[in-house]
Amino acid sequence: MHSNALKINLFMAEKKENRTELSELGEFGLIEHLTKNIKIKRPGTIKGVGDDAAVIDIKDKLVLVSTDLLIEGVHFDMTYTPLKHLGYKAAVANFSDIIAMNGVPTQITVSISVSNRYSLEALEELYNGLLLACEKYNVDLVGGDTTTSLSGLYISVTALGEVEKDKVVYRDTAQKDDLVCVSGDLGGAYMGLMILEREKQAFKADPDMQPDLQGYDYVIERQLKPEARQDILKILAGIDVRPTAMIDISDGLASDIMHICKNSELGCKLYEDKLPVNQDVMKAAMDFNISSATAALNGGEDYELLFTIRQNDFEQIKAIMGITVIGHMCDPSEGVHLVTDKGEQIPLQAQGWDSFRDK
Ligand code: ADP
Ligand code: MG
Repeated sequence: MHSNALKINLFMAEKKENRTELSELGEFGLIEHLTKNIKIKRPGTIKGVGDDAAVIDIKDKLVLVSTDLLIEGVHFDMTYTPLKHLGYKAAVANFSDIIAMNGVPTQITVSISVSNRYSLEALEELYNGLLLACEKYNVDLVGGDTTTSLSGLYISVTALGEVEKDKVVYRDTAQKDDLVCVSGDLGGAYMGLMILEREKQAFKADPDMQPDLQGYDYVIERQLKPEARQDILKILAGIDVRPTAMIDISDGLASDIMHICKNSELGCKLYEDKLPVNQDVMKAAMDFNISSATAALNGGEDYELLFTIRQNDFEQIKAIMGITVIGHMCDPSEGVHLVTDKGEQIPLQAQGWDSFRDK
């Protein structure tokens, strides 16, 4: 299973005998090496890597564009992020943004800036992850840029996607009394990060120790191998439910519902007892002495979809496993609140919610 592979990779320094210096290839050799096995999958991709620009035919649809920049030491930590996972996650995070517009991700470009600390084999791993995600989501890698950095690794992924003109879903179009729904479960990626950080500290104190990741497979997988919820869009289309507004949860439920509220000029009420939290996340939260609601509200990087639907669509949604109604939109004068198990109303804030309350 995937998580076993993680255990082997974690905290393992690159083996010396398996190292090809980037200087042996030069920029063009490197690009050629990393992209030589790419096969174009989508009919809309007319030209991929190898010219001054990629060429894409979008017929009469809307083009969606989303970009992310990841910096070593800021957005990822090389001590516990295997490069294959980093590549996978970098791609998936961008697919998730396209999907949150009710679109289909179709192409990515990948720009990297690397220091000579990285070997060819390391970058191959990064591209293995990127291309694995592209394979799974039927996306073409059509270009990028490659430069040297003075230190560390920078990766920028730009995703292109498409959506029919009458199907695009924005953040600012929720209506009063709409129901707030979320896919999957929340807080897992955050708990995974907490555990990886804990083991990193233990490892720094005693490099001979073996990381203790027993029982944390689920949350570590949520952190290191997230998925974008393309399946949810298919389900919604299948039952003919169109979200009125949608966003993907990258910063945490509290921050991301605020975006919908602010942009739609509405308030909302979310209910603590409705927040979907997996058993393993609950257990991990307990180990760290935080409430699972805190993990669900403030933990980011779950890449679940947060969307609003009309009340009329409730019966349809209710029957779907893996989608939970967690609250409703209301008049802006009522504010943005979490209703706790005890019936208290706590104002939600983009950050620092847990400073109000920590069990
Ligand atoms: P230019 O001088 O026009 O920027 P480059 O030599 O940088 O061209 O790139 C040549 C081709 O290789 C282009 O198609 C570009 O999109 C692609 N490319 C460059 N770097 C990468 C990368 N890291 N991953 C994928 N494709 C890349
Ligand atoms: Mg270039």
